[in-house]
Amino acid sequence: MRLVNTLTATTAHGRPATPPSSGEDRLAAINAHLTEPSRLTPVDADRLAEVAAELRVLFGATGHVHTVASRLNDLLIRHRAVPSLHGDPPVLAFHAPDATLVEAWTGDLGTALAMVIGVGQSARLGRCEADNCALVFFDTTRNASRRFCDLSCQNRAKASAYRARRATR
Ligand SMILES: [Zn+2]
Repeated sequence: MRLVNTLTATTAHGRPATPPSSGEDRLAAINAHLTEPSRLTPVDADRLAEVAAELRVLFGATGHVHTVASRLNDLLIRHRAVPSLHGDPPVLAFHAPDATLVEAWTGDLGTALAMVIGVGQSARLGRCEADNCALVFFDTTRNASRRFCDLSCQNRAKASAYRARRATR
């Protein structure tokens, strides 16, 4: 989610947003979310921005679940995603032992999203419905009813709906 938001959102909370556009800036943006810097290179960061753009279409796509599933399958195949036990003690990951970092990130992220879709929970992959907000989120509400990325967007959307109702009276 954060990778998609950081690397691809062109609007956020009602304002234009400028996603990083060079490999160095993308890498800095990715590392800013990590507790320790990744071993990614700026070229890897550019690749991950492409992956993030592909993952973005999975969010807010209710009604297009088959299209979304086939795109995600395609992404997983292209990045050689495969279940594999790594390390000692073994931990389950979704990339081959010889995977590149980009393949590893894509395999793990893509599989996590595939698991959500595969258990009939694609409605939980949400996209903010407020005007001028392209942020995506994972909806953890009991009945998957969340519509906005955060309270500020929810309040903004409520206020503009209220104004619209008053205007038509
Ligand atoms: Zn929002």
